[in-house]
Amino acid sequence: MSNPGYRRKPTVAIEDEVYEKAKSKAAQKGITLVDYVNGIISQNMERESFIQNYAPYVEKISSGDTIILRDNKIKKIVEIFFKDGKLHCTNDEHDCIHIHYALGLSEIGRIKKK
Ligand SMILES: [Zn+2]
Repeated sequence: MSNPGYRRKPTVAIEDEVYEKAKSKAAQKGITLVDYVNGIISQNMERESFIQNYAPYVEKISSGDTIILRDNKIKKIVEIFFKDGKLHCTNDEHDCIHIHYALGLSEIGRIKKK
């Protein structure tokens, strides 16, 4: 601590609840908590840049029980919702780029059944 040349590596605080879950996930996979957390963070950043390249004209407006997106190509706001065991889009009858985009968002895990 008193060594002026010593620079601490960056650390981050993890919430207690997340810490316990992450610790048991890491143990299940047989890896350290540090490797597990770093893996998740880099995979998440890679996924975010993938979906930005996949659909650069789509952007997330908000997320909650459903996911609201803006499609700048068709100039429309679309809503992605979960019903009858499937994801649906308010703009398209079938599987569409909005659903693919929503699946790439980490918020998809919080979408609720309608
Ligand atoms: Zn759609």
